[in-house]
Amino acid sequence: MIREPARAVPVLAEHEVVVLGGGPARIAAAAAAARQGADVLLVERYGFLGGMGTAGGVTNFAGLYALSHGETRQVVHSIAGDLLDRIDRLGGLNAPQQGLQGRITVRSYDVSAYKCAADDLLLSCGAKLLFHAFAADAAMDGDRIAALIVETKSGRRALCAKLFIDCSGDADLSARAGVPFALGDGHGSGLFPTTMFRVGNVDADKALAAIGEFKAIDRLMDEAARRGAYRFPRAGAVVRPQKNPTEWRVNVTQIRNRDGRAMDGTDALQLSEGEIEGRRQVREYFRFLVSEVPGFENAQIVEIAPQVGIRETRRIEGAYQLSGEDILGCADFDDAIGVNAWPMELHLEGRIAWRFFPDGSRGWCALPYRMLVPPKVSNLLVAGRCAAMTMRASRRRAPAAPASPWGKPPAPPRRWRLPPARRRPMST
Ligand SMILES: Cc1cc2nc3c(=O)[nH]c(=O)nc-3n(C[C@H](O)[C@H](O)[C@H](O)COP(=O)(O)OP(=O)(O)OC[C@H]3O[C@@H](n4cnc5c(N)ncnc54)[C@H](O)[C@@H]3O)c2cc1C
Repeated sequence: MIREPARAVPVLAEHEVVVLGGGPARIAAAAAAARQGADVLLVERYGFLGGMGTAGGVTNFAGLYALSHGETRQVVHSIAGDLLDRIDRLGGLNAPQQGLQGRITVRSYDVSAYKCAADDLLLSCGAKLLFHAFAADAAMDGDRIAALIVETKSGRRALCAKLFIDCSGDADLSARAGVPFALGDGHGSGLFPTTMFRVGNVDADKALAAIGEFKAIDRLMDEAARRGAYRFPRAGAVVRPQKNPTEWRVNVTQIRNRDGRAMDGTDALQLSEGEIEGRRQVREYFRFLVSEVPGFENAQIVEIAPQVGIRETRRIEGAYQLSGEDILGCADFDDAIGVNAWPMELHLEGRIAWRFFPDGSRGWCALPYRMLVPPKVSNLLVAGRCAAMTMRASRRRAPAAPASPWGKPPAPPRRWRLPPARRRPMST
């Protein structure tokens, strides 16, 4: 241990509301507060907004459309609708795409357009933005947060506010302020992270003919794995076109530690190894795409996401804990503040398990205000993936994994190796 000397921290700013984190939760929280006339500051560690949607390379909006009584319709509007319109006006929004035999509807987008649209949306509401500021601590005054302490290029600074909203995804501020939380599955694992990537120069017609159909890419992976040519990190992939039809996003990697458990996105060393492992898996899967999948013969990697995509870490204990039963039961709440139309998508070891809303149901559940309200700290709300919910938002056990032709997914190598030779050079 090194003991740091006590020091005075300059106050950089004072606002009514300080919102931490620049993901979709924060964009909505900050825009909502600013539209009500509050003086709002947003604090983000990167130089742009979007969270996993940009930094994690997700590039795809899910959960806005419900399969409601057999008909697909948009059920999330308001600030999300405003953001979509702005991305669309910048030419960066794709038409709705359906998947899983019509049970889900998504809209992919261009990352740069999202970043610009999010800036515009928040500035138009009157919110202020502080980029390149990493939340490091909370200065407490009894049960209140007096200041959020951030590390910046100018040094350590304090940000004071009447109300703080933690949208860091990892509940960083809540944890520092002493809010009780659960981490992953509570046994050292949890939902598995994914390093996303996009490839360009795809022959869209050829690719759609080959893998446009439900599970067609899974069948190609299956055949290749049976030949022993590849070892995939998980069964099945999402390989879909973006707004520019020659550009496709790929969601297939799965980042686990050497003991097979999901990488913990709050552990500095695991995060570091996970980034390297993610890029190793990307190069291996890219080799499969160009060698085995029609339409990808001349593809190039356009971007490996700036950071590994984290699905879950800390989730606070809140006044209400949203559960899987609430989701699949299309729950209603008196204090509803939003709706969720996405089914349960569980990224388990080597596979994804889906739990859908019942056929013929309205296809969405309400989200209660109480899941944002933590105990112990009186001037804090917590939104986004670190709000109060159960791990799978479910207490039910997942069914046993189906027999996989790949057997147990490969563990990361003990020493990082270069992948086997690729057929085509990769450009990033
Ligand atoms: C691989 C992957 C694929 C996904 N696919 C889809 C999809 O297709 N469609 C979809 O809708 N959803 C998808 N999701 C889920 C979606 O990304 C999340 O639901 C969403 O991003 C959660 O939003 P959030 O604002 O709670 O957190 P995040 O998006 O994680 O945002 C947290 C923000 O806080 C910032 N931050 C964190 N810690 C600090 C700190 N200490 N100091 C300062 N800033 C900090 C981060 O930089 C980030 O901007 C996917 C997720 C992953 C990981």
